[in-house]
Amino acid sequence: MTSSWVEGTDGSDYSTAVLPMGVAVLPGNDAPHTVTRIGDQVLDLHDVARSGLGGDDLSPLLTTGTLNSVLAAGRPVWTQLRTTLTTWLSDPAYRERVTPHLHPTSTAHLVMPFEVADYVDFYSSEQHARNVGAIFRPDSPGLPENWKHLPIGYHGRAGTVVVSGTNIVRPHGQHKPRNAAEPSFGPSARLDIEAEVGFVVGTPSKLGYPVHPGALTDHVFGVVLVNDWSARDIQAWEYVPLGPFLGKSFATSISPWVIPLDALAPARCPLPSQDPPVFGYLRDDDPWCLDLRLSVTLNGSVISEPPFATQYWSPGQQMAHLTINGASLRTGDLFASGTVTGAQRLQRGSLLELSWGGREPFTLDDGSERTFLEDGDTVSISGWAPGPDGTRVGLGDVTGTVLAAS
Ligand code: MN
Repeated sequence: MTSSWVEGTDGSDYSTAVLPMGVAVLPGNDAPHTVTRIGDQVLDLHDVARSGLGGDDLSPLLTTGTLNSVLAAGRPVWTQLRTTLTTWLSDPAYRERVTPHLHPTSTAHLVMPFEVADYVDFYSSEQHARNVGAIFRPDSPGLPENWKHLPIGYHGRAGTVVVSGTNIVRPHGQHKPRNAAEPSFGPSARLDIEAEVGFVVGTPSKLGYPVHPGALTDHVFGVVLVNDWSARDIQAWEYVPLGPFLGKSFATSISPWVIPLDALAPARCPLPSQDPPVFGYLRDDDPWCLDLRLSVTLNGSVISEPPFATQYWSPGQQMAHLTINGASLRTGDLFASGTVTGAQRLQRGSLLELSWGGREPFTLDDGSERTFLEDGDTVSISGWAPGPDGTRVGLGDVTGTVLAAS
């Protein structure tokens, strides 16, 4: 790890080994600026670039007010940018020119980091799929017949992907309790979360040409934390036969910091063995997942700590499957893992699982009980990953508060 002249940052969750990318409105500005984070400070990359340090190659990418320009620039530029940021923050020769552009994180209003192109959500945690099967289909086999042959997914709604801090209005919709004769209409009574990890596409692919799983690092810039808010009652009534629709599309929250895949190289971990063997297009000579440790709080109580390392399908396989029919990737595409759930009870990534379909309420630190979310509840998903030399890579957090139905 390269030591920084910014004091107190070397052992922190945001050392020079992390350098997340985001967009923030900083004090005295109206316009959003591209930023990175070092320790508990935000570096205004827009202003650093404008000061002349960015050069002709990086300055145009850092002054657009969105990460889309950085995403579209591609892997060689991402590497160059990372090297440049590291130099600015570690070489004392830059200290005087960079210091004026550092701001306490508490003064930075982080906004949507990039414009989402397409949004796809997978279903790649075996334990989650088995739990959902056991809750909804107790009499049939645990996994759907296709589950170990392909990473199941669906296309979500890109336009309602929102940044952490955005309030979530409880959705209205139709629902039909299992024993009811007729459907009813009203606010969802089973509003839920899904703790997920999202992959942010930079480099597009060509329509008609699938992308190999090993090409993940060529196309994906980085990772965000995702809360895929879900109205279980709306979902249950609408999803046959075309899959999730209004039970999911009202909002999906992402963390404001995009963690570069480069920062997560020390967190790579092997995939669990896949049996039955998968088709060739899903095979990778060097398959990997990421050892990301998530933590979910509800009104401040830790309710779950889902381990991303337990995923059955890798992000590379998800990308390969997403494109195997020739569908192309676009800059700004977001594909999410699906709910991350581990083997232990307190590793379940949804309230559906934590309350076992609403049948087993769980207790928060203040003594109150929950099955699904109540109005006013605040959910936060945070995370970290192993970094170099025993350090940690902070993943930030994605937080949202439920408002009463409008
Ligand atoms: Mn989901």
